[in-house]
Amino acid sequence: LPLLLHYLYIYRTQKSTTLPTFLLIGPSGSGKTSLLTLCERGTPSSTHLSQSPLSVEVALPSTIRAASSKYRSTNDPSAQSPTKLLFVDTPGHGKLRHHALNRIAASEPLSGIIFLVDAANLSSSTGGRADEGLTEAGEYLHDVLLALQKRYTSATTSKGPAAMPVLVAANKLDLFTALPPQLVRAALEAEITRVRTTRAKGLLDSGIGAEDAGADDERDWLGDGGEGKFEFAQMEEVNVPVSVLGGNVLGSEGSDVQRWWEWIAEHL
Ligand code: GDP
Repeated sequence: LPLLLHYLYIYRTQKSTTLPTFLLIGPSGSGKTSLLTLCERGTPSSTHLSQSPLSVEVALPSTIRAASSKYRSTNDPSAQSPTKLLFVDTPGHGKLRHHALNRIAASEPLSGIIFLVDAANLSSSTGGRADEGLTEAGEYLHDVLLALQKRYTSATTSKGPAAMPVLVAANKLDLFTALPPQLVRAALEAEITRVRTTRAKGLLDSGIGAEDAGADDERDWLGDGGEGKFEFAQMEEVNVPVSVLGGNVLGSEGSDVQRWWEWIAEHL
């Protein structure tokens, strides 16, 4: 009997770790804590809980069906119980970002990555300090996408790793200063292009020229050989489909995170 209980224990703990897991990242202030508390308690709160990565078990809203259970009969008992998943939060503070990148590099079985941005803090037209938000988000997202590209190019199997979908969740669309999702996409693509060019120049200035660059170094450019304009669509070549969808965790008319849930459901 103790052995049986032991196996049962192992079975249960393994089961609990196989919940589909989504990494939730983004600059600080983008709304990660608010989104997690909304999912967990039904009301958003921006009180932070800890400095270390934190995982929260959430249930898919019953109105949305996971892609994997689309063809299941409604009489199937597993179709009645809510679909559970895990959100893993990482602090967005610059110095703590390595938690997020480490997790990607460790190629843990993630179902996807949600990169939350404050869509009201991206516009450079308001001048001055406002561009800091865009710079920070662009550099962070660049580094995440580069880590994902490396994960693909350094894979040892010929097929490469499984797809790693990325959702750029444009948050705070309740604010009238927020950019609509298609402009969030354009602003981030332009900023990532700038980051890529700056990094390329930095490498050239430091004397590591094209002739020294071995096959390994080529992989340090994000997307399409690192020339011209960066577009999220270039990430599809390394099995990383990127979607940009808008929503708001807070707002005078309540929260609207429907499109994000639909994206999550597509990747379950
Ligand atoms: P984190 O640093 O990414 O965890 O961000 P927080 O969840 O702490 O949110 C930062 C601030 O943005 C807080 O003051 C939130 O109340 C606010 N906030 C988060 N989401 C929204 C939103 O959708 N709309 C508005 N107007 N404010 C938001």
